[in-house]
Parts: sequence; C-alpha cells; structure tokens
Amino acid sequence: MQETPARTGKQPDSARQLIERARHILAHEQRSGHQDNVVKPGGIEAFIERWATQMRAARDRGEIAAPPAGASGRFPEVAILHLLTGYRALDPMQRAAKIRAALALLDAFDTPNASAAVRPSRPATTPTSGPRPSREAPRFGQPANSHTTRRPADSAPEDDWPLAKPLPKPPVLPAERPRPAMPPREPRPEDAYLLQAAVTAVPGVGATQETRLARLGIQTVRDLLFDFPREHHDYSTLQKIGQLPFDQVSTTLGLIWEVENKRTKNGRTRTVARVSDETGAVYATWFNQPYLLKQLPRGAHIVMTGTKQRFGNRVEFAVKSHELPEQGDLINTGRLVPVYALTEGLSPKVMRRFTKWVVDRCAPFVPEHLPPEVRSRTKLMPLPDAVAEMHYPQNGDLLAEARRRLAFDELFLIQLGMLTRRANWKEGPPAPAMPVPESLLFADAPTEEPVAANNPGGGLWPLTASCFETTLPFALTGAQKRTIREILADMRKMQPMSRLLQGDVGSGKTVVAAAALLAAAANGYQGALLAPTEILAEQHYRGLSALLAPFGLHVVLLTGSQRAKERNAARDALANGQAAVAVGTHALIQEGVSFAKLGLAVVDEQHRFGVAQRDALRQKGYNPHMLVMTATPIPRTLALTLYGDLDVSVLDEMPAGRQPIITRWRSGTQRQEAYRLVAQEVAEGRQAYIICPLVEESETLEAKAATQEYERLRTQVFPDLRLGLVHGQMRPTEKDRVMRAFRDGEVDILVATSVVEVGVDVPNATVMLIEDADRFGLSQLHQFRGRVGRGAHQSYCYLLSQEAGMAARERLAVLEQTSDGFALADADLRLRGPGDFFGTRQSGLPELKVATMADTPLLALARETAEWLWQRDPYLRALEHAPLRERVFLFWHNFAAH
Ligand code: ADP
Ligand code: MG
Repeated sequence: MQETPARTGKQPDSARQLIERARHILAHEQRSGHQDNVVKPGGIEAFIERWATQMRAARDRGEIAAPPAGASGRFPEVAILHLLTGYRALDPMQRAAKIRAALALLDAFDTPNASAAVRPSRPATTPTSGPRPSREAPRFGQPANSHTTRRPADSAPEDDWPLAKPLPKPPVLPAERPRPAMPPREPRPEDAYLLQAAVTAVPGVGATQETRLARLGIQTVRDLLFDFPREHHDYSTLQKIGQLPFDQVSTTLGLIWEVENKRTKNGRTRTVARVSDETGAVYATWFNQPYLLKQLPRGAHIVMTGTKQRFGNRVEFAVKSHELPEQGDLINTGRLVPVYALTEGLSPKVMRRFTKWVVDRCAPFVPEHLPPEVRSRTKLMPLPDAVAEMHYPQNGDLLAEARRRLAFDELFLIQLGMLTRRANWKEGPPAPAMPVPESLLFADAPTEEPVAANNPGGGLWPLTASCFETTLPFALTGAQKRTIREILADMRKMQPMSRLLQGDVGSGKTVVAAAALLAAAANGYQGALLAPTEILAEQHYRGLSALLAPFGLHVVLLTGSQRAKERNAARDALANGQAAVAVGTHALIQEGVSFAKLGLAVVDEQHRFGVAQRDALRQKGYNPHMLVMTATPIPRTLALTLYGDLDVSVLDEMPAGRQPIITRWRSGTQRQEAYRLVAQEVAEGRQAYIICPLVEESETLEAKAATQEYERLRTQVFPDLRLGLVHGQMRPTEKDRVMRAFRDGEVDILVATSVVEVGVDVPNATVMLIEDADRFGLSQLHQFRGRVGRGAHQSYCYLLSQEAGMAARERLAVLEQTSDGFALADADLRLRGPGDFFGTRQSGLPELKVATMADTPLLALARETAEWLWQRDPYLRALEHAPLRERVFLFWHNFAAH
C-alpha cells in the first residue's frame, strides 16, 4: 500500500488528516494479521517515524489545540512513536498488542478540547445507541476493534504468514456488542401469535424435545421465554492467556494458530489447538470430538472457558465450552452464561440454543403490561429488555435490574389481586352494622344509654351482665383495648370487616375475640370461631364459654369426632338461634351447618387456613364480619403483602405480671442437666415438652426418628414417668387423644416433632426442651417456648444444639435475651428469609418465581404503586390498563386453580 500522495503535495496534511491516516493504516495492519506488509517500503516503523514528524509540524502550526499529554507526560504522537519503534522485530502477537495500544493512543486526540481543532467528526463504528443503562467498560484482552474502518478485503496483501486468509472482521464481544436496538418495525400480529404458539415453533424442537420441555412445564413459546435461568455462570471476564490461573475455571480469548487431532494411549481422540494472544500461548484440548478439527479454523478468534492444568511437564487448557465469536453471538462462554433447570436428554447447550432463539425472536415483542405512568414512577426496565437480560444479560448490573423488574411484576400483581379481592369483599353485599356502646366492654367508659336503646330490633338474647371488663379477673391491657376499639369501629359499619389480629403467644387474643363476639350478640347476631385442630377448638370452646357465661350467652362446640347426638344438638341450637356462638373445626364450614343469623366469623391461627376456607365461611349464605387471628408475628411489610386484603391490628403488649421464661442454651453434652430439670419439675407435679430433632428430608423420616427418640426416652431416660408422643404422621384423632391426655395431666412428658405445633394451653407445663435448636428458625423456637410460662410457675426453655457454629450460637443467644416475637421475626427475616416461618403455599399466595418476600423495599414499592394506581382507576377498567388487568387475572387465576 502506498501512502497517500498528499504527503508530497505542497500543502502539508492537516492534523486531522494525519490522524485519520494513521488510524487507517494501523487498522489495516491489524486486519491483515500484523504482517507488516501494509506500508512499503520500510513498514510500520518507517511510516510512524514520518508521521510523528508531520504531527510535530502540525502541532507547531497550532492545529492541535490543546496538547493532551498522556500518563507518561508525552504527547500521544511521541508515545506512539516509542511504542512502534522496533515493530519489525516483534512476533505477531506482540505486534498485535502494540497496534492495539497505538490505536488507543490515537483516541487521545479525540479529547473534547482537542477534537474541535483536530477532528470534527469520528466515524461511528461502535454504535452505542439507545437509552440503555451504562454498559461495562470493555474487558481487557478484547481486540480493539472499534477503530476498524471498512476496506475491501481483496486489497489485503497475502503472504505465507500462518494465517491462510485475511482475518475476518474482528469479533464484537458481548460486553461491547450493543444489543440490537428494538426492532425497527412495529410489532406485528404474528409476533403475538408466535408467543402463543406451541414450543415446536422453535427451530430444533421436534416431538422428542417437545416432550422433554413439557416435563419442565414448557408448552408454548411464551413458557420458554419466561422460563428464566436458575443462575448465571460468570464467564464474562476474559483473562489474558499469559495470566490464566492453574486449576481454576477461567475464560479467555485468543487466535487459533493450528489445530490437530491426536490419539491418546487408550484410544481416545484429543483435539489440540494452539491458541494465543499478545501475552502468551496455550494448548487448548478437547476429548473425543474429532469433528472439531473442521470447526476450528486457523486464524479465527476463539473464546473458551476451561481449566488450565498441568499434566506431567505439559500444560493444557481443558476446554469446557468454547465459541467462535465471528460466527454469531456468544451463548455458552465469554459472557454471563444462563444455567437452566434441565431434564434428561436436554443438554445445557441445546437449551441455550432454544432460549437464545426465543429471546432474539420474541423478547422484543413481549407486550409491556405496565402502564407508562407506572413505569415512569418506578423507573423499572421495560419488560422486553428485562426478559432478554434475564436470559442473556450484558452484564451483572443489567441482570440485577432485569430481576428487579420481574420481581416487581410479581409483587405488583399480588398487590393488585389483593386490592381487587378486598374491594369485591367490601363492595359486595353489606354486612350487618353492629353498633355497641363502649360501656358494654370497658369499665372506664362513660355510661351511655343501654344496649337495647341502641338496638331497637332487640337481640336474640337478653344480656345478663352490663360490662365485659368487670366480669374479667384482670384488667385489659392497653393493646387489648385499642384492638377491641378498632374491631368495634369496623363492626359498626355496613361494610364487612376484614381484619387481621396479630399477637404473640400469650398476648391475650382470646379475650379480644370474646369481646367481638359479645358485640355481635348484643346486636342479635351469632358468631363462629374456627380453629385448626379439635383440641384447640375444645380449648376455645371452654375459654369462650367461661368468658361469655356472665352474659347468659350459649356457646356450642362442633367437631368431626363428636358423637352424633352432641353434634345434632349443637346444630339445632345454631339453626334455631338458641346458641349465640359456635366454636369448631372445619366441620363448622363443611357439614350442613346453618346459622340463624351469622354476623361475625373469627378464624384462629390464620396461616393454617387457606383463602378457600375463609371464603367458604363467607359464602355460607352470610356476609359476616371477619376477624382473623394469628400468633405468628409477621413483620409489618410482610404482613401487608401476605394479607394485603386485610386491615391489621397488633397486640404488642403482654399482660402484666408474666414471669419471664428462663431460656438456656446448652450443647448436646449438657443434655443430662436438662433431663435432670425435667425430672425435678415432674416430681413437683409439673409437665414438660421435648421437641425432637428436625429431620428435613421428609415427614415420614421425622416421624420415625421421633418414635425412636420417644422409645429411648421412655425406656432409658425416664423409665418411671408417663410419656406421650405426637408426630405429623399420626391420625388427627390419635394426635388429639395424646394431646388431651397431656392437657388432663395423664402424661408427664410430651415428645413431639416440629411439624406438630403444640398450640395448646397447658398452664401446668413448665419445661420446653428443644433438640437441634440451631436448625429451627427463631420464630419457630419462640412459638415452642410460648407453650410454657402460661401458668403461675416459673418456666424454662432449654435449647440444645450439638455443635452449633458461631452463627447458630449468636442466633440462640438472641433467643436467650429476647422474648419479643416481632423482634425475633424481624431477625429471622433478616437472617434466614421468610420461608422459615412462612411457606408460600401455606400463606395462600401465588407462587413467586423471581421475587422473594425478603425484599422489603421492593415489596413496599409494589404496594405503594398498586394503591396509587388503584386510586386513579379502581378495578383497572381504563382501556390503557387492559393489558395489566389481564395479567392480574391470569396470575391469580393460575394460582386459584390449585
Ligand atoms: P393467645 O391466644 O394470644 O396466645 P390467650 O388468649 O390464650 O393468649 O391468653 C393467654 C393467657 O393470658 C390466658 O390465660 C388469659 O386468661 C390471660 N390474659 C389475657 N389477657 C390478660 C390480661 N389483660 N391480663 C392478664 N392476663 C390476661
Ligand atoms: Mg390463642
């Protein structure tokens, strides 16, 4: 190639022309494999010498406005001259490095203050179009390809340098490859159809793969697109070949110099390629893939992930996955590589090929269901981008943003569904308004007109006392009073109450429920209390009977195991209005029970009841007020999400005079100390619980382990005491039988598994001994502990753990010091996430794929945004909200089906 004739003209070249020419020459040198054939005679070295002289002249003429001296303190042209001096003597890899550096230095002339004088415009060879968030800086080791200028390939000189043909256009690696801008065309109807099409629409998916994908729950193209990877392997950091670490998975980029197949001693084929960059060379190896010989062309760039290993005196790079960037996007290496859930016969590579296709073809056409005003409020990534980034992220930041967007969607749909349910409920048929004067409940309330005057219709039952609080053996706590007032305010309205009452174990929820039931009865309405187990129902039955007896109110019990005679009597009393309150298990809602006038439904231990049961009660032909009680302390944000359709009251104050439970953490070797205490307490007439080690594998195994432990304790440790066993595999009637025996003092020590929530009030029990305590969540331990300390006697909780590590010790120490269930729940949420005290399935919520309940800020954002939107357009009836409404419907519909 000849230098341009301008060199010899009278007018000296302008600085801009000079820089452009250097760029041109160096890029050409790069493209043609650094053979130093580009400039004749004298090669690159001679050219750059002349060029530097001309540049100095241009600088003297003042054409280079501000001298951008580099880090070395030199002018760039001088630095380039230094760099390329001795170029001819270098080997091609070293040359490549020098050229790359020189091209980078040429860019120094493009600094803002220089460019005006030197180069008004620079060819846009690397479009960084679009409003996408910042991309990562190019990683080192990547070819400096952005300076390439186009040039007919046939003008490249040829010789016998190892590369047989001119190098192809250098590859663009993912970190710097702009994702193709949103498709240049408007979405077409067929794009939407493609999303709905069977997955066989994806090239390569035939009947066999279709079956395999179906096993993963993937049937349509949309399913595949929304089947997000479990995680990503970070193969995006390209390391220089000279710096590849031994025995560690790493990724590198190099040029293939030669490839050959070899035979190993045991008859396998080993494909060996010599791959190098400017820092060194390595032998890359593959086993038993002889066909690779044809697929790895000399002179091509290769990105490969593998492990550098030493075999005797040989060093090899055992390749795990590789790709030739010139041949298309990197999918399996050189990037954040998606890792999908797979099934037999479906390999990671094949799966990636499928997902890559759907992402490229379909992601841009995923309809955005978030209305623009929501998008702009939340500053979330558009859905098409988020879907694409979830699979093939350009970098970690964008992946995080994509995840945030999709997690938001889930939480947002939950919130909108809750708001819909709540609105339906509140705007449905009216509930009976039940006004009561405060004086009926509180001793210190100003006396108002008697109930009857307030309630001209008259109750079914004449009340035989006039003030609830004065009938109690204690004064109500402040929290109880506040909560009762909140409930009464709800019940006064014709809008059905839908309230959650949260209160730690022992905080006195039963009294609050009794107050609400009394208010209903005063208005002539019946109440029902639903409990999760028979024994709890019995307990409530006795408790409520005692609390309501002073008012002459008749309470009945309804359970599945009752004798027919009792059950029929209870049913009759409810149907003819003789009974004011019914307490029972599912039997209350399942069997043909009818109420004369149901006005209030109370559900205890809400998390055991699904949404369906709650609704069943509501739908028993009545539209009662609803009070839901739970002892599981749920941090507020989480409660708002799980029970977004409920108002929340909190009993955050314990009745005075409780003796704190002495909690002790002990290693397993100190078990004898705990046993001695158990024996001692039993000798004094008290009772004890022993919670068996947690067996996470299955309930069956846990039951088995508990049975063994029970036998050991019964025969070897406490042979003289009466022991009982309850576990999750027992029939409910059997469980209840043992629990009753314990309650009635016929059993001294109750051995139980974790699945049995011993939610029973046995005031005589004073010791709670928990094996393997470090494996339980704090909230759960707190629940166990709440089973003791319910009576007048000092109580103890022993936390045994075999060899708890530091973290476990710390957690157990928290429990030793705190008896505040909410603080413990918060700690749990922070330390272990919500799953530990609240499985999603139990919570009655749609399954989350991306979001986690621990993401408090995002939860809050979703809730806030949902309420904001709902206020502007309740039920999302506006046309522009139709796509969102549809998604809410589908999301909840799919869930309700289970
Ligand atoms: P929870 O159901 O919230 O765990 P309970 O309603 O069973 O608690 O009450 C626990 C115990 O505390 C019961 O024996 C109850 O009589 C007693 N109790 C309730 N409220 C008070 C109060 N204000 N002062 C003293 N004791 C109370
Ligand atoms: Mg209770």
